[in-house]
Amino acid sequence: GHRPVTTRTPNPSGCQHCGIDQREHMRQWKPPAGWHQWTQPTQDQIKARMRARRANRKEQ
Ligand SMILES: [Zn+2]
Repeated sequence: GHRPVTTRTPNPSGCQHCGIDQREHMRQWKPPAGWHQWTQPTQDQIKARMRARRANRKEQ
């Protein structure tokens, strides 16, 4: 079947490295950080993600 391409926008407060929520995070491997624990995103990251979310919603 045909699956539409979904752009996954990470949660604004998701991990700085991979965007996964703190409660779901545990340990993740993601380049370039490698194995890491949940890290608080920077304010700039949060703002950029919120912008991306808004842009995504507009396109749908
Ligand atoms: Zn992470």
